[in-house]
Amino acid sequence: MKILVLPGDGIGPEITEATLAVLDRATAIHGLALEWQTDVIGLHALRKEGTTLPARVMGAARAADGVILGPLSTNEYPTRDQGGFNPSAELRTKLDLYANVRPAKSRLGVGLTGKPVDLLIYRENTEGFYADRNMHAGGADFMVTEDTAIAIRRVTAKCCERIARRAFEAAASRRGKVTAVHKANVFRISDGLFLREVRRVAREFPAIDLEEVIVDAMAALLLRDPMRFDVIVAENMYGDILSDEASELSGGLGLGGSINAGDSHCIAQAQHGSAPDLVGRNRANPSSLILSSAMLLEWLARRHSDTVLATAAKHIEAAVDRTLADPQQRTPDLGGGLGTREFALAVASALG
Ligand code: NAD
Repeated sequence: MKILVLPGDGIGPEITEATLAVLDRATAIHGLALEWQTDVIGLHALRKEGTTLPARVMGAARAADGVILGPLSTNEYPTRDQGGFNPSAELRTKLDLYANVRPAKSRLGVGLTGKPVDLLIYRENTEGFYADRNMHAGGADFMVTEDTAIAIRRVTAKCCERIARRAFEAAASRRGKVTAVHKANVFRISDGLFLREVRRVAREFPAIDLEEVIVDAMAALLLRDPMRFDVIVAENMYGDILSDEASELSGGLGLGGSINAGDSHCIAQAQHGSAPDLVGRNRANPSSLILSSAMLLEWLARRHSDTVLATAAKHIEAAVDRTLADPQQRTPDLGGGLGTREFALAVASALG
């Protein structure tokens, strides 16, 4: 299987190198038939090719069996007419990667508030309040006068239905509960449509409990009682914000794996950004991208009914957990003394 590797900006190249060190070891141990192909996107590509996302890369992503994508310094990109395309948004919409799956698990024993965390967020990925992905032409974040700006959110029954379906399917093999996050008290029509579709899907899964929580209360309840939540389904913006909160709550932003998955493509992508403050210092925690890559292997395993890939995915996650269990073997964001490279070597050797 061909895996396209796009290291991205900021700490992207460092955490990608660390991730590949772990994947190379897993490939050797399990005899996986994985081939890496690396290409350049982001600010490096902008300098050399005048665009943050060369057309060649989009074609390679479409042709690959899976993609490993590093974080991107999108805040530093110029406008689209100057070559500043957000590769995450382009890949998510063009490859129809409608489900952003983000687990939060207290891998250090307990989470930030001393309570365990074990939940899974299904965030809608292709519309919502994201101005760069919800219009057929033009952006949805614009100015009417120099003092009046408007952003438009798109919500469709199709996108709500499919993300809800994936969430209920996931809950069936977990603790059997889905929490739908909304703000239908204010957005009666658009979040009302989201809830209508979630409830419609829920009727097909009578064994799964459905709970509905307003997004602001959700931010508080996550802190108060994280184990109340099993699978959470949310529109794009709510899911993005809550997943950072859940990840930090579970022990740190550098710990949360994530995939962007559709019906025929999948991209492993860390939950966090490009951490400009850590670039070139060998201090970034690569756990998020390593765990994201394990999630990609698991997605490929299901798609191709490949039990060896499934075993390798579990093995990598267990090796990350075994490494993190020792406080001496953690990166500085978690109070440890290991560098990015040294942490990756520790995980690779924990694989056996
Ligand atoms: P960030 O996630 O990069 O950093 C937030 C904080 O978390 C910083 O203190 C950083 O040092 C820390 N952090 C993040 N990842 C870490 C890791 N792996 N190990 C240790 N510490 C880590 O968010 P930001 O500072 O708001 O954004 C920086 C850039 O990233 C911006 O250009 C933003 O647009 C972009 N961004 C990209 C993505 C993506 O590519 N998926 C997501 C979010 C932000």
